[in-house]
Amino acid sequence: MLSTQTQLLRLSQGQLNLLESCPRQFQHTYLEQLHSPSDPEHEERLALGSRFHLLMQQREMGLPINTFLQADTQLQSWMTAFADAAPEILTPVPNTQTFRASEHYRTLQVQDYLLTVVYDLLSADNQQAQIHDWKTHSKPPNKRRLEQNWQTRLYMYVLAETSEYSPENISMTYWFVQSDGKLQSIKFSYNKIDYEQTAKKLSQLLGKLTKWLGGYQQGKEFPQVPEGSKACDYCQYATRCDRRLGTSQKMSGTNSPSGVDTTLLNVATIQEISL
Ligand code: SF4
Repeated sequence: MLSTQTQLLRLSQGQLNLLESCPRQFQHTYLEQLHSPSDPEHEERLALGSRFHLLMQQREMGLPINTFLQADTQLQSWMTAFADAAPEILTPVPNTQTFRASEHYRTLQVQDYLLTVVYDLLSADNQQAQIHDWKTHSKPPNKRRLEQNWQTRLYMYVLAETSEYSPENISMTYWFVQSDGKLQSIKFSYNKIDYEQTAKKLSQLLGKLTKWLGGYQQGKEFPQVPEGSKACDYCQYATRCDRRLGTSQKMSGTNSPSGVDTTLLNVATIQEISL
């Protein structure tokens, strides 16, 4: 008997962001793995961010972290910022029936795709569930922009779909710890309208992806954004796409000395959030 099992393609929020901003960029990055390595300074920032995530996880698990803090003043300052501004995040109220899990992983199948989320911290009681996300690599972005980012949309949607919580009882907070030790947060409350909009958008985007993947197997490339799009100004595939001059450069008639767009999209940021 023939197997009818379908192979699921795993997708993260970063991949959805890229797919939505430019399908051709998604093709080059994920199907063809053409992306350039990121610059060492950015790599260092990412490594520091990863260490902070690990530290928060170890702390949540009750493992000692003092040795790591003593060895790194930046981590120490971030942890102090948290302890001062949001002590409830580090130290849950005792004797409460709160579920807490760090680096909490969930998946949801939609069409032939397995949508994957990892919550830095999920805390929940019998009333509500809160997703927390640590950001160490940037200043807080515009709230509207962050709301539209697939991380916000997907993370709350997946929780609503995979738990008993109604959308109104789900929230997500981004915590921005910055190099000067300041802590800022942006919180989103969820609701049924946003939930339904995300379901619709996801279905449309994944439907398009299925069509583009089918075309790609027949030798057809994924669509590009229209000529003159801002996205091309900062894209590492500009030469490949023959979009060497960005809109603003075309307007002013200026270009980099070599005639090549030297601004690289930092692919590594895709894994976190494009801000
Ligand atoms: S250069 Fe423009 S069209 Fe080409 S992949 Fe980048 S954003 Fe898309």
